[in-house]
Amino acid sequence: MLTELEKYTEESAEKAAKILKNGGIVAIPTETVYGLAANALDENAVRSIFVAKGRPQDNPLIVHISNFEMMKPLVTDIPELAKRLAEQFWAGPLTMIFDKTEVVPEETSGGLSTVAVRMPANEAAREIIEKCGFPLAAPSANTSGKPSPTKAEHVFEDMNGKIPLIIDDGECSVGVESTVICFRNGKIHILRPGGITREMLAEFAEVEVDKAVEAAPKADEKVLSPGMKYKHYSPKADVFIVNAHGDDFKKFCQDNGGEKTIFLSCGEREGCMDYGETSEIQAHRLFALLRHADEIGAEKVYVEIPSKYGVGLAVYNRLLRAAAFRIIETS
Ligand code: AMP
Ligand code: MG
Repeated sequence: MLTELEKYTEESAEKAAKILKNGGIVAIPTETVYGLAANALDENAVRSIFVAKGRPQDNPLIVHISNFEMMKPLVTDIPELAKRLAEQFWAGPLTMIFDKTEVVPEETSGGLSTVAVRMPANEAAREIIEKCGFPLAAPSANTSGKPSPTKAEHVFEDMNGKIPLIIDDGECSVGVESTVICFRNGKIHILRPGGITREMLAEFAEVEVDKAVEAAPKADEKVLSPGMKYKHYSPKADVFIVNAHGDDFKKFCQDNGGEKTIFLSCGEREGCMDYGETSEIQAHRLFALLRHADEIGAEKVYVEIPSKYGVGLAVYNRLLRAAAFRIIETS
């Protein structure tokens, strides 16, 4: 199959909607990462997403809507708290989990009785959903296990020959996937951290962070968010988090350098690649740098530990998985 890469325009959005209406899949931009979209209510279309990504069948998809009304047929009940969060954070990188109705096929929900819903802020994404008139299931448009795509070129690397069309809207502004939450006993339970932070959510209700966010789930342990149990976001190189800053990180780099080794530092540092001084910049650059590591044939990637505050928690969560939970202590 020939894969076309087209800039976002009224015309290309129209073309994307036409493919989606015919049960096909299209890669679309969102503010978090590029998504591999299909009609969320058509089980055959959704199945082809799993095939193109090589994604495990029990890992449910997020359903993307372009207006609040679109959600009503999908869910049995919308708690007051969810309405308040939607008012504040939609359109934006917040995904909320609700009990689903029969309208949502099992393929989309990964066999669960719940469905994850989000309204993306990216104009191209919303325009395409609006033109379709149905919600789109859209997991990250990467091959399962690889770093998520934050540029259309990344999608092309993974999906060339597998899908007919990629809509290019430049770099994703946030750069990491959405915050996923569910509601438990009136509290907000964070299953996956993202652009809408724990601190922002705490203005609305008590917030708990799922233990799978910062730790490896034990074998056979039941996880609330199936995506948390898989190795994820990783380049071919071995990634390690280094728990050191400043002079300690500098010394670590001096002691561990090698031809096929790269270092990612929080800010500019000699001999390192800068993945950003702030958590926002780190989120924006992380996946592109992990892909870059593959392009230049790196075998080892050592990453200075990020802050866990704000969006930093999302950066840390993705890095932990990319590093298969390996953290090096230097003292
Ligand atoms: P992705 O589509 O790659 O951004 O991944 C979606 C994430 O949302 C995965 O970690 C899923 O496990 C999680 N997710 C989607 N639907 C549900 C659900 N109904 N319950 C819990 N987690 C969900
Ligand atoms: Mg993904």
